[in-house]
Amino acid sequence: MNRCTKAIIYKDNLEYNIKQILKVLAPGTKLCIAVKADSYGHNALLTSQIAEKLGVDYLAIATVDEGIELRKGGIKANLLLLSLAIPQEFNEIFEYEITPLVFGKEYINLISDAANKYFKKDETFNVQLAVDTGMGRIGCYPEEAGEEALIIEQSDHLVLSGMCTHFAVSDSLNKKNQEFTQEQYTAFRNAVNFVKDKGIDPGICSCAASAAILNNPDMHFNMVRSGIITYGYYPDEITKDYLKSIKKDFDIKPVLAFETQVVAIRHFPKGKSISYGRTYVCKEDTDIAVLPVGYADGLLRRFSPGLEVTINGKNYPVCGRICMDQCMVDIGKNNPDVKLWDKVLIFGPKESGALNDAEALAKLGNTISYEVLTSLTKRVERVIQ
Ligand SMILES: *Cc1c(COP(=O)(O)O)cnc(C)c1O
Repeated sequence: MNRCTKAIIYKDNLEYNIKQILKVLAPGTKLCIAVKADSYGHNALLTSQIAEKLGVDYLAIATVDEGIELRKGGIKANLLLLSLAIPQEFNEIFEYEITPLVFGKEYINLISDAANKYFKKDETFNVQLAVDTGMGRIGCYPEEAGEEALIIEQSDHLVLSGMCTHFAVSDSLNKKNQEFTQEQYTAFRNAVNFVKDKGIDPGICSCAASAAILNNPDMHFNMVRSGIITYGYYPDEITKDYLKSIKKDFDIKPVLAFETQVVAIRHFPKGKSISYGRTYVCKEDTDIAVLPVGYADGLLRRFSPGLEVTINGKNYPVCGRICMDQCMVDIGKNNPDVKLWDKVLIFGPKESGALNDAEALAKLGNTISYEVLTSLTKRVERVIQ
């Protein structure tokens, strides 16, 4: 593939970030890296291989198919499935040793019945019990945890290998939200104790994602689940500056650079309009660089007006509407700094030459870095560097 619109994955930055995360964990605390959604657009197999090399022994996925792809790629780490598998997928999670989240008597019985058909006597299969402590998504209520763990343990093949919950507002510094996180944590601890009260080992318990990894070190439990910080972005209000202000300096680097090239330079007289809707009219004679990247690549339409891209160390505005496969940039008349075929950085780490990161685009598009990263589509080739 020779297409110039591509995503460069800075492998060293990924390794750097994982090492930074490992540094803030107490000895014995396990790290689970979220590689769901193709590692937030960064290539799940590559990320998983690097994580394994660094001794990470849990990877989190969102679909059974994501897990199968990793197993076929040779990944041996524990795979934790964060969304629910449907009954049609049960045989696949057994075959590929994907650890599902389970909760609810009926669901646990369904998976147990399927396991009875699939496994031979004495074979076991790990599941984790999901507890809903305030996210309002999947999981049993904390007070049901003991009873549900008992159903798991009394089944012929299922083994409780851990318990999980997920925080709803741990990325916010608002006092009420911080209190809510504390309440969720307490509820989770209670749930774990209800399981222990039944004489059952709760296994590896986790509740902290990126925000709580950085801001709530007292909530790390036996394992943390790291997503966005692995890829070099801070979760919402838990910014680098905030962490510095509370003396918990934490440095990470963006991993992905989104780049393209100038494929044409057009000369326009004052008054000509650019792109669909004719929203941009040249205020004076100018030159327009055409880029072969558009919203079908993940360059969201709502980024313009406002988006600037970097060419040879300087930012230039995208002008007019972003099209499906192309967009235009006003580079000014007779600009000696921009030539045909020059590389253009849309966002990326500093060393890529980009002046923007995905966080800057997120602010422009009224979203979060997570969405900017996962919006990059399949036709944007991921190139490892
Ligand atoms: C995606 C996800 C994570 C990782 O979240 P980040 O904020 O990216 O660190 C952790 N746990 C669960 C259940 C998730 O869905």
